[in-house]
Amino acid sequence: MSCEEYDTLIHGYLDGELDLPSTLRVEAHLPGCVSCARTHESQRALQSAMSNGKLYFTPPTDLSRRVQLALHQAHKAQGRTSSFVRGVPKPVLRRISWAWMSVAAAAVLVAMVAWWLGSVASRPSPDDLVAQEVLSGHVRSLMANHLTDVSSSDQHTVKPWFTGKLDFSPPVKDLSGDGFPLMGGRLDYLEDRPVAALVYQRRKHLINLFIWPSPPDSKQKTLTRQGYNLVRWTQGGMAYWAVSDLNWTELKEFVRLVQS
Ligand SMILES: [Zn+2]
Repeated sequence: MSCEEYDTLIHGYLDGELDLPSTLRVEAHLPGCVSCARTHESQRALQSAMSNGKLYFTPPTDLSRRVQLALHQAHKAQGRTSSFVRGVPKPVLRRISWAWMSVAAAAVLVAMVAWWLGSVASRPSPDDLVAQEVLSGHVRSLMANHLTDVSSSDQHTVKPWFTGKLDFSPPVKDLSGDGFPLMGGRLDYLEDRPVAALVYQRRKHLINLFIWPSPPDSKQKTLTRQGYNLVRWTQGGMAYWAVSDLNWTELKEFVRLVQS
């Protein structure tokens, strides 16, 4: 992963929005990278500055006395009479306090807009967040030695296995004849819901195909994250995410076979 990608993760890390694998990755990277550690430190400082509420400018205590004195003298020089509060004409006093309040309000507003722009620009889109979850699910299935709950290349074994475990029935295809043998299926948890994960193989490469109900969305999307290729689409009321370290040509061939 590049420092640019870590830079994006650091914002989520500070907001406590990352999943466990990403959190561990950031924590492993920071001690060894001066640039990312500096980004982390400055973002953390900004975050704590924003939260301690001391953004109001407090004028020196004798400032108001000095202004009042100057106004009083100016007024005396003009020889006018008016109603005074501690030597300052009331309308002037009112105008001064409003001026201070608007300066303080403007300063706070500028700081808030800057913070908001910074966090919006660096915040991943909803699709990116799902992609990150899908990728974590894929990596976790390889790392935790928990690839399948039901191991079978027979779609008539895998599909019924999901019955009673999910509130939907995922379409399951065996693509052995096309060089993508089905290895099995397992339950996973993405987007705050249990989802079906089907596992296919292409030579030494594994493909996780995540499926869950979703409203239709016409566009198919492809993206690359941390060296993995991901394809998402919707079909027949389901969202599909295919993720693998397989090359684009073969992964797209796989997607076409699933879709057909
Ligand atoms: Zn770095």
